Amino acid sequence: MKYHVVIVGAGPAGSVCGYLLRKAGVDCAVVDFATFPRDKICGGGLTPKAYELLQELMPDLRYGYQGVRRFRLMMDGRTLCVVDLAKELRMVRRKEFDYALLKQYQSVGGELIQDAFSRFEELPDGSLRVTLQSGAQLECDYLVGADGANSRVRRQLMGRYPGNTLWMEQYVTKGANEFIFEFSRRYRKGYYYSFPNVDYDIVGMGGCYASPREVRALLDQNKIRNDAAVSASPLRGANISVQTVTSSKHNVILIGDAGGFANKLTYEGLYYAIATGRNAGMAILEGTDFAVANREIFRKKKKEIYITRFVYSRWGLGLMRLGAHCPKLIKKAFEMNY
Ligand SMILES: Cc1cc2nc3c(=O)[nH]c(=O)nc-3n(C[C@H](O)[C@H](O)[C@H](O)COP(=O)(O)OP(=O)(O)OC[C@H]3O[C@@H](n4cnc5c(N)ncnc54)[C@H](O)[C@@H]3O)c2cc1C
Repeated sequence: MKYHVVIVGAGPAGSVCGYLLRKAGVDCAVVDFATFPRDKICGGGLTPKAYELLQELMPDLRYGYQGVRRFRLMMDGRTLCVVDLAKELRMVRRKEFDYALLKQYQSVGGELIQDAFSRFEELPDGSLRVTLQSGAQLECDYLVGADGANSRVRRQLMGRYPGNTLWMEQYVTKGANEFIFEFSRRYRKGYYYSFPNVDYDIVGMGGCYASPREVRALLDQNKIRNDAAVSASPLRGANISVQTVTSSKHNVILIGDAGGFANKLTYEGLYYAIATGRNAGMAILEGTDFAVANREIFRKKKKEIYITRFVYSRWGLGLMRLGAHCPKLIKKAFEMNY
């Protein structure tokens, strides 16, 4: 089969990209090995910039969420401040949210192929041949890798990828309707979080060098036990990719977690999956390079490297502790990012 665009991965990045292309009449297919609706390990926090962008791109999209405005900043087990934000965060269930996005893509005639991507090769005329695990082969002019943190498309392009950080979380019984971020020098470029969701809360932790043992110990210390009523699985883990990569081939584009676009400081990935999905769609529609269509995000990623290095340093955490005496400052800093 021949398509103009083949997208690997029907997560937020792939579905948004496919939706924009199909809406513009482009012949494309999305390949995903999962059976939808499928779950995805994630806190499910949609920031205002993420849901406002989605509203702009997909005005008909409907999804359930828990709105949360209250934010508690903690350090080493102590509350530093509690802040009420101007705009709510929307906490979504990824299983439903991703399915709603995929259905938007399908509603404009988008084709979903349930199979796994294996490899691609370049043909003499510059187009690509994609081989799937079933042995099926697809030809295309563009290949979009939207296949998440452990991207196979990325692996074929650049081999080993050192930019993944491990995050682990579990569902617990609902508590207060506030989200918590707790920092500590012990967590090393990461944090502990507690996010309210629709029928449960999600608690977790991650960052550089986080290990399952360390996360379990932290949950025990916070008196968080596996609650069989809400969670069949005690603790689940997945990677978030924070080392941004640029594909060496103009017609192979990496977006979302496959491209390492999650925020290096906060680890927010959903906005960047949606925004890079849109930018890849625009690049293909306009015949421009993805590096050009996505330049604002590439620029932001470079800045994040320095900000992250500072915030997670002794000085950065010290400043956060001091700044917490003026919650307005913390509110401003948080809202600048969300
Ligand atoms: C514990 C945790 C908590 C998080 N919390 C938040 C949060 O609160 N807010 C936030 O903004 N971000 C959060 N993130 C990050 C967010 O989950 C990701 O950034 C986001 O899911 C990236 O979307 P994506 O479309 O790029 O990839 P994904 O959502 O991972 O989708 C990739 C898709 O590709 C498919 N796929 C993979 N390999 C193949 C293959 N070889 N062939 C075919 N299909 C394939 C998968 O089945 C999947 O459907 C969190 C992540 C983790 C791990």
